[in-house]
Amino acid sequence: MEKNVIIVLLLVLLVYYLSGKKKERPTFSQDNIVIYIDPGHGGPDGGASFNGVHEKDVVLEISFYLKSLFEANGFKCYLTRTGDYDLAPEISQNRKRDDLRARAKLINESDADIYLSIHANSFTSPKIYGSQTFYQADNLESRKLATYILDSIKENLKNTKRYPLAITDKFLIDNVNKIGCLVEVGYLSNPNELQLLTNPEYQMKMAAAIYFGVLEYFNNRHL
Ligand SMILES: [Zn+2]
Repeated sequence: MEKNVIIVLLLVLLVYYLSGKKKERPTFSQDNIVIYIDPGHGGPDGGASFNGVHEKDVVLEISFYLKSLFEANGFKCYLTRTGDYDLAPEISQNRKRDDLRARAKLINESDADIYLSIHANSFTSPKIYGSQTFYQADNLESRKLATYILDSIKENLKNTKRYPLAITDKFLIDNVNKIGCLVEVGYLSNPNELQLLTNPEYQMKMAAAIYFGVLEYFNNRHL
């Protein structure tokens, strides 16, 4: 409990620190906005793994910080998972597919305005690094959301020169009928990024950068 209070205080301080750089104030009310965060993988599906670090654990930590940030600032926020498990039924012929299907169902049947699926990458070359966002092809709002988030990550963390990309054949992006995007926070296969992504301070900064990207999205939304 005490740890949670400290985390929220740190996040609030971080928000004040980062928002000092912004001139604009929010032009929307966050009271009615609902955010669904999907920490990728979980349970038997660890996602990308490197040097004993599993994607499922890194993205869950970042998602917890992100949820605290949204809630501390008046948003309503849900997580598709809050521990180390997947969402497939106990007996399943295809856990991965059933897991993703359950996540899509949760988000689709919710009152979420947007969703964010949080992942980490890995690649055969250790030189490759940097965050990137992915959006649903032909969905302008998804593209805008992915762009504001990656711009904010670039501005606040200076960890990437990548651009948002359209993506297809990704179950969640293809099957969730709400505005959302996929955030790949970085590469576990890059030694520097591996170290950063397991550091709570960097995880908080990543959460704050994503949070500010979402704020910018709502600031500029004209639906
Ligand atoms: Zn993943």
